[in-house]
Amino acid sequence: MKLFSTKGHRKIPGNKHISLERDVTTIDPKKVERVYFPLVAGNNAPHEVLVKEGDKVKVGTKIAVKPQFTVPFFSSVSGTVLAIEKRYNPMTGRVCDHLVIENDFKMTKEKPLKTVKLDAPKEEIVAAIKEAGIIGLGGAGFPTWVKYNNVKDIHTILINAVECEPYLTTDYLEAKMNAAKIVGGARYLQKAAGASKIIIALKVHKEDACNCLRDAASAYSDIEVREVPDYYPMGWEKTLIYHIFKKRYDKLPSEIGVIVNNSSTAMVVYDALVDGKVVTERLVTVSGNVVKDARNIIVPVGILAETILKEFDIEDKEFVLLPGGPMTSNPAKDASYALISCMGSLTLLEKVVYRPVACLRCGACSAHCPAGLQPVEILRAFDGRDYDRLEKLETMRCVDCGLCSYVCPSKIEVTDMMKKAKTILRVHQSQKK
Ligand code: SF4
Ligand code: SF4
Repeated sequence: MKLFSTKGHRKIPGNKHISLERDVTTIDPKKVERVYFPLVAGNNAPHEVLVKEGDKVKVGTKIAVKPQFTVPFFSSVSGTVLAIEKRYNPMTGRVCDHLVIENDFKMTKEKPLKTVKLDAPKEEIVAAIKEAGIIGLGGAGFPTWVKYNNVKDIHTILINAVECEPYLTTDYLEAKMNAAKIVGGARYLQKAAGASKIIIALKVHKEDACNCLRDAASAYSDIEVREVPDYYPMGWEKTLIYHIFKKRYDKLPSEIGVIVNNSSTAMVVYDALVDGKVVTERLVTVSGNVVKDARNIIVPVGILAETILKEFDIEDKEFVLLPGGPMTSNPAKDASYALISCMGSLTLLEKVVYRPVACLRCGACSAHCPAGLQPVEILRAFDGRDYDRLEKLETMRCVDCGLCSYVCPSKIEVTDMMKKAKTILRVHQSQKK
């Protein structure tokens, strides 16, 4: 008899209220003397740098291009290019080159980008999204234009405002503050894909955000605002799509005629295509059980995490700093890293040392895995370096959602082991090739 039913999800405490009790603030630009832009992406490919030491830049000057998918990056302040220096990057877990720009505090702006009308050809809309360097603001940072390039047979644009990670509240607040922009951006995305429908999904019990989105969408019969259950990881594309469409897919949602974008990403699509603005600042949730004045704060892209933390009253306790939500991000080594546009949170949690005990073989990790994997079996294969079995168990389909660690009664860091298993399997597969 199974002790746990196969669910693929779990209700977990959201702790969202912590950062919603205080108003959003904006950091004083005078406190941001320098901004820093990492010059490598997750795949370690270096960026093409378009400026050199001593160059003057403005807010919105194109400073570098990521070669994979040609994604431009823009300065978030006006000032002078100082240098390229080594700095820790939590996305890669390594030290890498960063472009440093010294702020002149004048906030001189570049000319806006060329705007695009909603009735423009879809190729023009996709090109404008590419030119604005828009990447997914929900955390993954995947270039938005790539999802829309030469797509066919798309029926629905699914705007994901679920934000299922505990503590995080930026998408929720943007939905309240900028619902019209989210709807406006979603219409451009709908046009870019030739889709007939838009669904905006958010979790239940967010009535105010839901009402704002419904008001903003009230003029359009092809937009539906859909509330979805509050369980984790409802915001993961595959879970959300299965809940809404009752369909599964292999690699991309476009296989079943759907493209998914985060709601704040839709908002910045609107900013770029209607107002010609690129992303130079963003809303960031700073929360956790050691932050006395948790709230959301607007900061320039490229600001250091340590500069943001100086704005907060933090309990005098040993804590771990997570450059994202507690379920999916790994603790940062320190707060010396720079925020890029897809990083929307700093979560500070009191350090708790768990003493793992032997696996009980209870099956909870397998029962809750939203990818349908058997983490307990993968751990055994990992321990034995049984690469054939790791392949058979489809180890690479793990999405690092963190749920297996969360549910493990033995306090085993199952997700960390899954990451290690993927790494050794990747190395093994490339050596085989
Ligand atoms: S790893 Fe943890 S959750 Fe999975 S079977 Fe063992 S004890 Fe249970
Ligand atoms: S981290 Fe990976 S193995 Fe663990 S529950 Fe999530 S998808 Fe499954």
